[in-house]
Amino acid sequence: MDVKLLEILVCPLCKGPLVYRKDQQELICKPDRLAYPIRDGIPVMLEDEARKLSAEEDV
Ligand SMILES: [Zn+2]
Repeated sequence: MDVKLLEILVCPLCKGPLVYRKDQQELICKPDRLAYPIRDGIPVMLEDEARKLSAEEDV
């Protein structure tokens, strides 16, 4: 994914910064414990599409 694009992306809920997980192709919001998927290189910044991180997952 384009690093410049990553820099301007924020969480749609809390407007906070996101962590890019390259191996999983996800963007993580730590405060909300949500993982936004990246599909075909396009981040899907929708709460409905985001995966909730389980308690065991390290963020
Ligand atoms: Zn957030």
